[in-house]
Amino acid sequence: MIVMKFGGTSVESAAAIERVAAIVGQREARRPVVVVSAMGKTTNKLLAIAAAAIEGDRAEYIRQIHDLRDFHSREARPVVPLDHRAELDRTLDDHFQELTELVKGLAVLGELTPRSIDAISSYGERLSSYIVTLAFRHFGMAAEHLDSRRVILTDKRHTQAAPNFPETYARLARTVPALAQNSVVVMGGFIGSTEDGVTTTLGRGGSDFTASIVGAGISAEEIQIWTDVDGMLTADPTILPGGHRVKTMSFAEAAELAYFGAKVLHPATVVPAIEKNIPVLILNSRRPEVAGTRIVADNVACGNVVKSIACKRKIALVNIHSTRMLMAHGFLRRIFEVFDRFETPVDMVATSEVSVSLTIDNLQRLDAIVAELQQFSQVDTEKCQAIVCLVGENIRYTPGVARRVFGALGGVNVRMISQGASLLNLSFVVAEKDLERTVAALHGEFFAELDPAVFERNEAVHA
Ligand code: ASP
Ligand code: MG
Repeated sequence: MIVMKFGGTSVESAAAIERVAAIVGQREARRPVVVVSAMGKTTNKLLAIAAAAIEGDRAEYIRQIHDLRDFHSREARPVVPLDHRAELDRTLDDHFQELTELVKGLAVLGELTPRSIDAISSYGERLSSYIVTLAFRHFGMAAEHLDSRRVILTDKRHTQAAPNFPETYARLARTVPALAQNSVVVMGGFIGSTEDGVTTTLGRGGSDFTASIVGAGISAEEIQIWTDVDGMLTADPTILPGGHRVKTMSFAEAAELAYFGAKVLHPATVVPAIEKNIPVLILNSRRPEVAGTRIVADNVACGNVVKSIACKRKIALVNIHSTRMLMAHGFLRRIFEVFDRFETPVDMVATSEVSVSLTIDNLQRLDAIVAELQQFSQVDTEKCQAIVCLVGENIRYTPGVARRVFGALGGVNVRMISQGASLLNLSFVVAEKDLERTVAALHGEFFAELDPAVFERNEAVHA
């Protein structure tokens, strides 16, 4: 069995769903279990509907619900067998009727709880998985729909629920292989339920996580994440176009990249797969012939030091200075206690005898944090900064990486540097305005030559 996960853009239209059916059809012999996201931007739209409801904007939420129903109906009809169309209409009616009732209830209460957010956002995956099941039948496959809420059991932390792994794995093992014997199994990502049957979600972008959980639960041969890029690249394409494809990397490298904003993979995704040693493939549903990126448990021998350059924009640097810190203990605790109280995660930290610099990417509570810190230290903040992160297992074995970085960067002012505790990343902070030339310079330095076993050169740009 293999798990094949298709993201929102891969199922955003009738044409996209038809492509998915072709891709799955070619792999039918491997007994695929398909996990789908909500179609296109459906999750965002559902959340917008909820927001309109609590603002009491009835005309607006009714209009948006209609639009969303029309969208699903319009894209689903062409890929649903004629004799299933009545059933499709009925199912859409039922779901949107239910959704409307729920939203009206919210409008009356004027309050949006995490539990109701989950109830509402679950409709995206419930609908997409049902529609894709019918589409697979339309394109000649035997397909069975499995409501993920029957098998993905979670705690009650709505909007960020954590799976109960032992129970979920037991349910998956009991249900899925039998269904997959003669049919392609189709499940919605992102959603689960509590012991009491209340709908939960695993957090935004959670469908990858579902795919990984399902793969682990059924001991799949491989987990394929089908998306709209060719795989992991040597540089973030939104900052430096034309990076080379990384054919294979370790889980640890992928997790590091995911954390640093490579949108391809959700960091938590890899955990269940690592534990069961199941490879995860990143593939492009628009270009299924490209071999993608294979993420495996162990380190992959590689002639290059760096596998990829990741970035995180819009971060703030907070510099905290106090002579009272000298020789005193408890100072760091006091600082972090402030960030903790304002629920703001700290990414990078550097300390000296009398000062601490750190970065945060959630700036919402920054003013309040600074006010607190100022009670016992001098504080200055710099916004519009970016973290640049070189990732590669070889960084820990190779002397002189930092020297090459500084050499390549010439005139760029590097604000803060840290060799990650994991030893496979080297991160530093630059001003956002310097980001593009920083990444371009580093890419030139570390990827001029490529180990052909690990990278596929992007001839188009770097010929
Ligand atoms: N539909 C959910 C979201 O947009 C989950 C996912 O796409 O992975 O966050
Ligand atoms: Mg997604």
